[in-house]
Amino acid sequence: ADRVAAACGAAPMGIRPYRRTMAQVRLGAPVPAALPLIVHVGGDFYFKGAGEGRIWLSPHDETPSPPGDAAPEDIDVALAIARLQAVVDWPVAAVERKWAGLRSFAPDRLPVFGADPHAPGFVWCAGQGGFGIQTAPAISALLAAELGAPMPGGAIGAIDPAAFSPARFA
Ligand SMILES: Cc1cc2nc3c(=O)[nH]c(=O)nc-3n(C[C@H](O)[C@H](O)[C@H](O)COP(=O)(O)OP(=O)(O)OC[C@H]3O[C@@H](n4cnc5c(N)ncnc54)[C@H](O)[C@@H]3O)c2cc1C
Repeated sequence: ADRVAAACGAAPMGIRPYRRTMAQVRLGAPVPAALPLIVHVGGDFYFKGAGEGRIWLSPHDETPSPPGDAAPEDIDVALAIARLQAVVDWPVAAVERKWAGLRSFAPDRLPVFGADPHAPGFVWCAGQGGFGIQTAPAISALLAAELGAPMPGGAIGAIDPAAFSPARFA
């Protein structure tokens, strides 16, 4: 986002991408199909059920990465498995899939959206971090309102977009 901004003559916001890894693991134990999301109290890993005998497992990694098409590292998958196996006695039968994505954060870890205060015509919508899927409808509605569409009502109308304005880093 910062590189695109720079190419458009806007100052960077300090948005940094961090890699997070996920693996689909088949277990050699009869774990329930509908496990809830379970997060290690120290933030070392988390997992959730992914169907009969399977979980989705992450080492809760946040590795600084250059922007681009992220790929998982074997060491991060191995770390996740080691941390899981420190607390349960479920043998791992196979790592069926693994993938990684980037979670991009501004310095205060809040999203950045709205008109740039110094680059006329440049509008930010970036830094959605680890919540960009669930917040996309609300952020899109707020941004559309800022660009002149009617302000949506209901719960979204109660959100003050000032906290997310790029002007906070000006
Ligand atoms: C493991 C993981 C779990 C997550 N869990 C959740 C969750 O539970 N809930 C939630 O709300 N959010 C979650 N997120 C965060 C969410 O995925 C992101 O906030 C969201 O995807 C950001 O959307 P985006 O479109 O801005 O960027 P992205 O989805 O990252 O899309 C950017 C795209 O640009 C492409 N690209 C990059 N560089 C170039 C280039 N130079 N040229 C062309 N294309 C390029 C990339 O390949 C990618 O397809 C999670 C993220 C990860 C990685």
